[in-house]
Amino acid sequence: MWLNNILKNTAALVANPREGLGKQADRPESGQRPCVVVIGSGFGGLNTVRGLAKGEVEIVLLDRNNYHGFWPLLYQVATAELVPDSIAFPVREFIHSYHNVTFHMAEVSDIDLDNKHVSITDGQPISYDYLVLAAGSINNYFGNKVIPQNTFSLKDVEQAVEIRQGILEAFEKASLETDPEKRKALLTFLVVGSGPTGVELSGALAELIPPLLHKFYPDLTEEKSRIVLVEAHATMLDSFPKSLQKKAQAHLGQMGVEILQNHEVTGVENGVVTFKHGSKMNAGTVVWAAGVRASPLAEKLGVKLAHGERVPVEPTLNLKDHPEVYVIGDMAYLEGYKGGKEAYPGVAQVAIQMGHQAAKNILAQVEGNGLENFQYVDKGQLSTIGRRDAVAEVFNLKLSGFAAWLVWVAVHIYYLLGVRNRLLVMLGWAYNYLTFNLGIRVVGGWPRHETKK
Ligand SMILES: Cc1cc2nc3c(=O)[nH]c(=O)nc-3n(C[C@H](O)[C@H](O)[C@H](O)COP(=O)(O)OP(=O)(O)OC[C@H]3O[C@@H](n4cnc5c(N)ncnc54)[C@H](O)[C@@H]3O)c2cc1C
Repeated sequence: MWLNNILKNTAALVANPREGLGKQADRPESGQRPCVVVIGSGFGGLNTVRGLAKGEVEIVLLDRNNYHGFWPLLYQVATAELVPDSIAFPVREFIHSYHNVTFHMAEVSDIDLDNKHVSITDGQPISYDYLVLAAGSINNYFGNKVIPQNTFSLKDVEQAVEIRQGILEAFEKASLETDPEKRKALLTFLVVGSGPTGVELSGALAELIPPLLHKFYPDLTEEKSRIVLVEAHATMLDSFPKSLQKKAQAHLGQMGVEILQNHEVTGVENGVVTFKHGSKMNAGTVVWAAGVRASPLAEKLGVKLAHGERVPVEPTLNLKDHPEVYVIGDMAYLEGYKGGKEAYPGVAQVAIQMGHQAAKNILAQVEGNGLENFQYVDKGQLSTIGRRDAVAEVFNLKLSGFAAWLVWVAVHIYYLLGVRNRLLVMLGWAYNYLTFNLGIRVVGGWPRHETKK
């Protein structure tokens, strides 16, 4: 009898996976209202959920992690300024007050547009009436298979902690190394790519490394560490106005960052970095921040992908042949930025605003109303250079120096989720700012999550 019941229930779950996955005691039966599956609890996904939660829909939110990552502060975890938990907010806390949202920590592995379901690696497929793809981006190595194996990446909290560990381990190895050339290589830290991530990271490394060596590694005080920012082109912070690019470059130079422009990295192996024009450099730690491409889930849609493997979407943010499927944020390719032919960039504001628009349009579809085109309100861009300097372009105002840094602080605190995280970040900044203390210097902690079978 009990076996019969189990078999019956399992059959029902396969037939309607939402029954088992999405249902909660205090909510209307799923099936009565259309189900929206949202993939990704990043900037785009969470803002879609926010917009949808007030509508007559059931929402199933899926993410491989159980947290929302605030990536703009990731480099501060990598450089030991902030604790990892301060930039990661639990998704279940975010959805707690919504009566029609269910969350599952699940890796989405496939999307079946014809049968309207998504597959997850550990569990039954989940069917949808509407789908929102907001799975972000991954590093772009431009086809090179060796570079990813030999460089650090800065795309999630675990990777930021790996960089922090790598830096601290390099110091420990250098203090044991007797060969001066090898010691010099161990103390060379190279960042590839001079977009906002590369600029912020190299500035933070320049502030972290020399005083840390001076204070805690007396046997290395004679050694000079090198922080090198490498760029394939002749410019840095490409999306910023020229005047702010120059200020950022000058300030990084004053901080001791060596800037190598027109140096395209073609290989990194056994601690040796090779450049396209033939020269080489020894570097113990190399971080790749030289470009991104859309999540590989883009390839599951069977559509012709655009630049950066992004998914071309209609101005209403859905697919031409599948209007019930929306693609937003770093995964979406939509031209019209600044009113021209340029595609909207992969930044948090675009993802947030696309999330709002996708939610509005889905609710319009449910109610039988017309859809609106995505209209972007450009609030500007920011990049820090060390702990009291930044460049900012806010509503057409160009700022640099301490004033820009204050804007940067206010914006980041405003967009961080959760009072606890805001307090943790502000406390960390105040402590570092006032004491110039050097953050978390323990090798270990926050291991990569692995599911126990
Ligand atoms: C280091 C760093 C610094 C940045 N700094 C800035 C900045 O200063 N200003 C700015 O505007 N932008 C910045 N960005 C860019 C900004 O963070 C992105 O543009 C934004 O996060 C895009 O939002 P999204 O929702 O598309 O993707 P994300 O916010 O990346 O969210 C994607 C989510 O999808 C989940 N996911 C991915 N694949 C799967 C899968 N197969 N199954 C289940 N879940 C999956 C991920 O776990 C993640 O939670 C930075 C990015 C990085 C990496």
